[in-house]
Amino acid sequence: MSATIDRDRLRALLEEELRDFRERHPRSREAHERARRSLVGGVPMPWMMRWAGGYPVIATEARGNRIVDLDGHEYVDLCLGDTGAMPGHGPAPVVEAVAAQLARGITTMLPTEDAAWAGEELGRRFGLPRWLFTLTATDANRAALRLARQLTGRGKVLVYSYCYHGSVDEAFAVRDPATGRTVPREGNVGPAVDVAETTVAIEFNDLPALEAALVTGEIACVLAEPAMTNMGIVLPDPGYHDALRALTREHGTLLLLDETHTFSAGPGGCTRLWELEPDLLTIGKAIGSGIPSGALGLSDAVHDRMFAQEGADYEDTGGVGGTLAGNALSLAAIRATLGEVLTEASFAHAIPLAERFADGVRQVAARHDLPWNVTQLGARAEYRFEPEPARNGTQAHDASDPELERYLHLHALNRGLLLTPFHNMALMAPSTTAADVDRHTELLDEAAATLVG
Ligand code: PMP
Repeated sequence: MSATIDRDRLRALLEEELRDFRERHPRSREAHERARRSLVGGVPMPWMMRWAGGYPVIATEARGNRIVDLDGHEYVDLCLGDTGAMPGHGPAPVVEAVAAQLARGITTMLPTEDAAWAGEELGRRFGLPRWLFTLTATDANRAALRLARQLTGRGKVLVYSYCYHGSVDEAFAVRDPATGRTVPREGNVGPAVDVAETTVAIEFNDLPALEAALVTGEIACVLAEPAMTNMGIVLPDPGYHDALRALTREHGTLLLLDETHTFSAGPGGCTRLWELEPDLLTIGKAIGSGIPSGALGLSDAVHDRMFAQEGADYEDTGGVGGTLAGNALSLAAIRATLGEVLTEASFAHAIPLAERFADGVRQVAARHDLPWNVTQLGARAEYRFEPEPARNGTQAHDASDPELERYLHLHALNRGLLLTPFHNMALMAPSTTAADVDRHTELLDEAAATLVG
């Protein structure tokens, strides 16, 4: 028999943690009160409203895998800017390269030598020979979708229910389990058109649904994370990727893999680890250590088709690119990050730590008879409150427990450890240590013991 969590007790414990949080963070509260008068939701970007304490701690410093807040508390950071700081905060080679580039010019509308270096290195890692740069992963995805529609002459994109690929209109779609229809994801803000016009949403790991969508001939491209990472970590079934590649080829649909988070799997992401062969690949966040940067990789075939076609304007107002995209600072950050920080050696350090993290969570769950599961993708691990890992986004979504999650996050935060606010995700940086991971295990054990009484 598994232990059950008493919800009244959980709520009372959460109240206690909230009181504790307010007592421990008076200066952050004061700063937040001021920010509430000028900022939307009191934060510079709405996602920051999401922290478990009711208001965010105000950061004063972030270095390596540590953050210090305005009230002087230091945190072990397992959130790492939701992957933007996967190389750690301010890695020395990046700080040095970016500082040097700042003094030599930030943005000029001219390439620097770093750009071709970055193209070659991304090609070596991910196997795609041609690259263009953007400022975010969102933008790389937007450009990729335009390109896919342009090249195939087809209108629709296929995504998985509860995927996330940035603020990309086409991707805010889910398959309604009752009707099988593609409907807007709950809360979608001001969609330009009915999402069913642009998108077909299916469940991850559902091959018959994939085939049924592709045979219609209306899908320009499949936009997929190799493993889903934004609703827990949902791993592909054995053979799923082979079938996905074979079916997309058979039906003339392009395959676009988004490696923004799955880059945690290794130096060449899942694409290299699992020998995947996408036509297009997008990445952002970590490749520039958080200096705005994103990239879109293309196969030779896609690149050749792009320039064989007439009428699409890639050089000016055709809808691909941006003034600051590919700027000198961004490329200097990418070069230093890939060349000196997120190296083979750094993954060889971080991946065993994620294993240690996952083992720790399993031990805690077993000790307290809690029916929790933990999934791992290289340097990233995540636990969820169900006995078995979900096989698709809808299962993962339905198994969410925001109240329990909030309690665990706040319990950890009040004791000096940060988890990603959107889920129970932990990411290991090159500077993360075994002691940092064990601290998480210790805190989770303490919280679990308190919860089950
Ligand atoms: N792709 C994936 C898989 C993501 O998780 C995210 C952001 N969480 C993005 C793209 C978009 O990144 P950004 O918000 O930096 O554009």
